[in-house]
Amino acid sequence: TDITGLLLSRIRDVPDHPEPGVVFKDITPLLADPVAFAALTDALAEFAEGVGATKVVGLEARGFILGAPVALRAGLGFVPVRKAGKLPGATLGQAYDLEYGSAEIEVHAEDLTPGDRVLVVDDVLATGGTAEASLRLIRRAGAQVAGLAVLMELGFLGGRAKLEPALAGAPLRSLLTV
Ligand code: 5GP
Repeated sequence: TDITGLLLSRIRDVPDHPEPGVVFKDITPLLADPVAFAALTDALAEFAEGVGATKVVGLEARGFILGAPVALRAGLGFVPVRKAGKLPGATLGQAYDLEYGSAEIEVHAEDLTPGDRVLVVDDVLATGGTAEASLRLIRRAGAQVAGLAVLMELGFLGGRAKLEPALAGAPLRSLLTV
C-alpha cells in the first residue's frame, strides 16, 4: 500500500526555523500518530531486511526516535551515532564541514563489528553532510554500509549527489522527496 500521502500529511512545515528563510520539516505530528509512526517503522524495517542489514545506526537525535523501533521490528541491534562528547566509552570520531564551521560525530566503535552490515537511519536528508560523515565513520569502524534510509529527502539541496562517493553503491532510500 502507498503510505506516501499518510506520511506527508503528518509532516508540518515551520517557516523561519531555525533561522529566517528556512522552512523546517517538523516530524513530531507523525510521531504523535501511532498509525503513521507504525507505517513508517514497517517501511524502514522492510528496507533494512531487504538490504541484509545486521545493525541499525541512528543519527542524533531524530534518527534515534526512528531507528530504534526499526531495529526492533527488523530484529537487529541499534547503535547511536552521537554529537561529540556525549558517549561515555572509547569512541571513534568523524569531523565534517557545516555551512559555517564544522561539527563532529562519534560512535562506540566496539558496538560495530567487522562482519556488520549497517543501515543508517535519519529523519531528513538535507545537504548530506551528517549522513556522509556517518558512512565514513562506519567504514572506519570496520563495518560495511548496507544502506541509508530517511523519511524525507530535501531534493533541492543536492544531498543525494553529495553522498554518492560515500555510499559507494549502497542504496539510499527516501520515503518522501520534496
Ligand atoms: P544535513 O547534514 O543533511 O545538512 O542535515 C541533516 C541533519 O539535520 C539531520 O540529522 C536532520 O535531522 C537535520 N535537519 C536538517 N533540516 C531539517 C528539517 O527541515 N527537518 C528536520 N526534521 N531535520 C532537519
